[in-house]
Amino acid sequence: MDTTTKTLQHYIGGNWVHAKDGATLDVFNPLDDSLYLRAAKGSRQDVQSAVAEAKTAFADYRETLPKERERWLLRIAEIMEERKAELLDCLIDEIGSPIQKAMFEFEKGLTMIRAAAGLCRNVRGETIPSDAPGKFSMSVREPLGVVAVITPFNVPLIKTTRLVANALAVGNTVVHLPSEMAPHLTLLFAQIVADAGMPAGVYNVVTGYGHEIGDDLTSHKDVKFVTFTGSTVVGQHISEICAKNKTPNTLELGGKSPTVVLADADLDKAMPLAARSIFMFGGQACIGTSRFYVERPIYDEFVKRFAMIASKIGMGDLRDPNTVIAPIISDRQRQRIKDHIEDAKAKGATVVTGGEWDGNRCQPTLLTDVSEDMTVCRTETFGPVTSIYPIDSYEQGLAMANDTEYGLSSAIFTKNIDTAFHFARNINAGMCHINGPTIHDEAHVPFGGNGESGVGREGTDADMEAMTELKWITVQL
Ligand code: NAD
Repeated sequence: MDTTTKTLQHYIGGNWVHAKDGATLDVFNPLDDSLYLRAAKGSRQDVQSAVAEAKTAFADYRETLPKERERWLLRIAEIMEERKAELLDCLIDEIGSPIQKAMFEFEKGLTMIRAAAGLCRNVRGETIPSDAPGKFSMSVREPLGVVAVITPFNVPLIKTTRLVANALAVGNTVVHLPSEMAPHLTLLFAQIVADAGMPAGVYNVVTGYGHEIGDDLTSHKDVKFVTFTGSTVVGQHISEICAKNKTPNTLELGGKSPTVVLADADLDKAMPLAARSIFMFGGQACIGTSRFYVERPIYDEFVKRFAMIASKIGMGDLRDPNTVIAPIISDRQRQRIKDHIEDAKAKGATVVTGGEWDGNRCQPTLLTDVSEDMTVCRTETFGPVTSIYPIDSYEQGLAMANDTEYGLSSAIFTKNIDTAFHFARNINAGMCHINGPTIHDEAHVPFGGNGESGVGREGTDADMEAMTELKWITVQL
């Protein structure tokens, strides 16, 4: 890869190539908006070339043995460990991850790859009893072909490792469009894939602006599956394209995740987890808790303790392990957060703590007295901002938690196991954590949401089912 000039190239068909028209895009360090590097700005031609390479490679790759794919994936994990420092630096300087979050993402990424390696041997169909005498009947799972992977800026390593590795594990080839704000991380990963010996054309990366070339990828007739993680508005657009072309897809979108805290909760344990639920990476997490519903007997105590924790959260050097609050990625996202806070203040919300900015970082912000007419009440903020509402009963908490168009993660803190399970079964969300933070993810779980938060689940088993198709085969004996 051409790193000396800091102009990154696409990775297509096993080669590092400039954009066909030579165009580049600038990537900025979100901490101070300085130029971080330049990357190829892809066009339709680049997308077509990547899909063509992936399609050609699929013919041989689909015939590879599980043990070969397993070996490549395990080698990728080994090389990731060797290049840990480089990957961490990139997560810090390209997207502004504090080292604590970068480490979390790196470790999670490793488990994603290793879990995918285990998936190679588990692409299974079944034998099926037949009503026809002497007929042996079975189903087999087959890879789909070229998979389009589209990833967001905030957890580029987790999403890349999980979705790319799962697609490759089950025998598909991939064309990856990373966020225009995080191309370097993905291209470092592409170098690792190449060095692990993965055949040329199996994994391809085209960098560029999604709003310019995304449609060329998702509507391509040779793309057989689309997996998208990003905002709800882009997800809706992709869903419409996929519906028209009958391209199966999974969509992992935005959230407005609730946490309910009942009067019997162990606040000593719950408080640090509540803080982690929203402030990690400066609130730029789809599964962050942006709504807390707290029972009245402990409401004042909860707000007081939360404010104390929030005011002490680390906002220092990104390489300091105590730093939690990250710079907000772009001007557009910063403006959205400012708008949400200003709108809430203007309409009567109380800013218990925070609300101010330190450079590109928003202070951890707690809002109370939030009402339905405020934007922050129902819309994803994607910053270190959360609202705390008092509730008079568990039933009211459940009803308010369910009063949303989203349905991603959720949590409840209580010692009552019956109530906890009632909540888990009745909350309209793809995920629920009892006495744990809404921010939690593992390689082999069904991760995803409902409604405006998306369609389908990801994770080893879910991706295996989504990224393969069943074929029924019979043998007349
Ligand atoms: P975004 O929607 O702006 O961009 C995501 C990706 O979509 C980028 O790669 C972008 O280039 C691409 N894109 C843009 N237009 C496209 C088009 N027309 N066709 C195809 N691709 C296109 O999102 P973002 O700002 O990078 O990420 C933040 C959002 O992602 C938040 O809403 C967050 O909740 C969500 N998110 C969800 C999950 C999840 O698992 N549910 C995880 C992380 C982030």
